[in-house]
Amino acid sequence: MRATTLLNQLLCLSKATVRDVEIADGRVWVGVRAQRRRMRCPYCCFTTVHRYDTRDVDSSWRHLDLGGRVCVLTLRRRRLRCPEHGVHAEAVDFARPGSGFTTDFEDLAVWLATKTDKSTVSVFCRITWRTVGAMCARVVADKLSPDRFTNLVDIGVDEISWRRHHKYLTLVSDHDTAKIVWGTEGKNAAALGTFFTDTLPEGVAERIEAVSMDLGPAYVKSVREHAPQATICFDPFHVVKLATAALDEVRRQAWQTARTLSDKQIAKTYKGARWALLKNPENLTAKQASTLKALKRQGGALGRAYELKEALRAVFAGDLDDEEVIAMLGRWCGWAQRCRIPAFVKVGKTIRKHLDGILAAISRGLANGRHEGLNNKVRLIIRRAYGFHTAQNALALILLSCGPVTLTLPYHIGPHPHSWQ
Ligand SMILES: [Zn+2]
Repeated sequence: MRATTLLNQLLCLSKATVRDVEIADGRVWVGVRAQRRRMRCPYCCFTTVHRYDTRDVDSSWRHLDLGGRVCVLTLRRRRLRCPEHGVHAEAVDFARPGSGFTTDFEDLAVWLATKTDKSTVSVFCRITWRTVGAMCARVVADKLSPDRFTNLVDIGVDEISWRRHHKYLTLVSDHDTAKIVWGTEGKNAAALGTFFTDTLPEGVAERIEAVSMDLGPAYVKSVREHAPQATICFDPFHVVKLATAALDEVRRQAWQTARTLSDKQIAKTYKGARWALLKNPENLTAKQASTLKALKRQGGALGRAYELKEALRAVFAGDLDDEEVIAMLGRWCGWAQRCRIPAFVKVGKTIRKHLDGILAAISRGLANGRHEGLNNKVRLIIRRAYGFHTAQNALALILLSCGPVTLTLPYHIGPHPHSWQ
């Protein structure tokens, strides 16, 4: 069998055939030629048989490794003139426009990026992490279905910090599917506004029945303006977060006070107790559990603060019916407002002010913990995207990992000749 015939069968390139092959600089260089006479614009479906000029563009794409070696496809592309997009080198079927990698290679790298950490992906694929970011943006543009908006009924809006609190992203999730359907830079009313004005298809905003969110004013304003019929719901998950933040404030104050005393060990205990206090008790390590026990024994404001946080968490644990939740929440607010810990007095007031929205979330069944699970997954993924160049690429990785997208590995697709399924 000739080497070119073998490679044609191995690579299975769409609309291209192998012309020659050589190994140089440790890489496998595969020269390919386009099979068709008509040229296609890379950015639309315009085709033509007329070349723009006689100049060829020498192009190359990194393909899946061959026998452990980096494999590069090379092709001399003709140039065409698209009435809409101007003069470009013709599109190829085996790579996305503007990419120096084949579609198969990008699909592999992006699939990995959604499953594992960045150094594994970089080392395994032999590419920089930033390159993966650009791939994510191309793959998401290719695979994310525009239909994901048509059946939206209950949605959730969240902000998340990207790159150590310097930048924020606003994310919209679909409560029915527990998937992220949209995101943008920023965390104000205008950021969410573009979802309603520029993204949603005609008529969808008017059909949205409920929007869950945190207790800040920005998203409320935007929903009131663009989807006034929607019920505003405050997610219990965000309510508990207020208590957790208040508890951390009390702990920091205790630590600051202890630091001014002579016994440095006490200060150290408070500093080290952060996770013991903030984690759910069922997730504590043995050491954290004993730290917590010691702090509770000491009592004082920190002990009371911890009990308040845990009591609030219990209200939303999911084992109470709506009426019990209402009653318990009222009691909790009374307790918080009498507790003489300023941070918790404030939380009590905030909860009372937002009571209608909190109860709406419970009665609509939006307080089911699924949202919290999705939120935790997003947090894990966003940390992976810190090294990306742009917020758009970080968003792309979130949508690929937590959105309505099915990623497939090359060769796993049904009719593919190498499929093993
Ligand atoms: Zn075009």
